Amino acid sequence: MRRNLVVGNWKMHGSRAANAQLLGGLKEAGPWNADVAVCVPFPYIAETALALTGTAMVFGAQDCSSHEQGAYTGEVSSAMLQDIGCRYVIVGHSERRAYHAESDQLVADKAKAALAHGVTPIVCVGETRAEREAGQTEAVVKRQLATVIHTLGHCCGEMVVAYEPVWAIGTGLTATPEQAQSVHAVLRAQLMAATDRASVMRILYGGSVKPDNAAELFRQPDIDGGLIGGAALKAADFAAICRAAAQ
Ligand code: PEP
Repeated sequence: MRRNLVVGNWKMHGSRAANAQLLGGLKEAGPWNADVAVCVPFPYIAETALALTGTAMVFGAQDCSSHEQGAYTGEVSSAMLQDIGCRYVIVGHSERRAYHAESDQLVADKAKAALAHGVTPIVCVGETRAEREAGQTEAVVKRQLATVIHTLGHCCGEMVVAYEPVWAIGTGLTATPEQAQSVHAVLRAQLMAATDRASVMRILYGGSVKPDNAAELFRQPDIDGGLIGGAALKAADFAAICRAAAQ
């Protein structure tokens, strides 16, 4: 059986005071019978690490460089993330694909760099509204995942995949459990053909997951938890989603 994983993606939100309050609230509410992580802005990783010491929660980053080290001003390497104890890094979030022109290959290279340093990449895939309406959902997510599988080779079984329909992120629109499950099943089948670890790999759903829709989403056979944006910023909401993921 796969253990559910719930990951909070704080995006570019937070402050030292707000983070302390949020993490304090989560510490009071937990632990849960699920894996829980928060992916926080770079400047707050070290303080988050301290705040989570002694808890079952882990932390990570929201991006990493595809490069090992060197003259890449503004970049953060996966070796640095490993050095400060990050367990996860989100790569290929649709906001980075859209606003920073990240290609499928760059996303795959970032995932490879992360794995090389023992940081688990959470690889995001998902279609836009136009792509869904054009009937291209399956083709788009398969293309995005195929590049990562090809680049990682036999290590692809070590990643976490997140299906995040772009039209559902931050919009309040959620894929129905059936819509999400059908894409997750496609992704699982693609992983099955690539690695014998496919049946134990976690495929998360992300896109306006809230306390009131989380349980039904997580009940789907191929949904193994969630990548949570807006609702990860409120301790009560994120805790309720973690409760819904508890097995
Ligand atoms: C996200 O950004 O990964 C996300 C899923 O956001 P939200 O939950 O706000 O839709």
